[in-house]
Amino acid sequence: MRIAVFPGSFDPITLGHYDIVSRAIPLFDKIIVAVGTNANKNYMFSLEQRTAWIKETFKEEDKVSVDTYSGLTVEYCNSVGAQFILRGLRNPSDFEFEKAIAQTNRKLKGDLETIFLLTASGLSSISSSIVRDVIRNNGDYAQFVPAAVRL
Ligand code: ADP
Repeated sequence: MRIAVFPGSFDPITLGHYDIVSRAIPLFDKIIVAVGTNANKNYMFSLEQRTAWIKETFKEEDKVSVDTYSGLTVEYCNSVGAQFILRGLRNPSDFEFEKAIAQTNRKLKGDLETIFLLTASGLSSISSSIVRDVIRNNGDYAQFVPAAVRL
């Protein structure tokens, strides 16, 4: 079984995340969207809320499940038997950031490969942080997120 973990904050899930998971479905037998809990991050939405929106979004997809984790991503991957980490790339700063994380993760666990999918054109400007700003300022956030995300 090819199992991929898609780790992230998903605060909230956006159409960018949705696109990456949807395009990864044919590549893997199972994709676990893993919502990280990092004590140093200030989230806008609770872990329960973020998880519930992702579950609702992928409820028709048998291959996609949702979980939460804390600690090292490589340890979490180990615990669920995943051989792959899935990440999305939007721009050069994502590349630099992701390169450092992926290379570190390979040093921590050599048989774990990070697989990158390039963002779809039109979605590269979507980020959870910008969506949070739109929400805070009462803008039309619905065009940036899956239909399950409703406040
Ligand atoms: P993190 O806090 O780990 O960066 P995010 O929820 O912000 O968590 O992002 C999780 C993953 O989704 C990252 O690999 C990020 O590059 C990717 N991602 C976010 N937005 C997009 C997008 N618009 N297009 C493609 N990938 C995206």
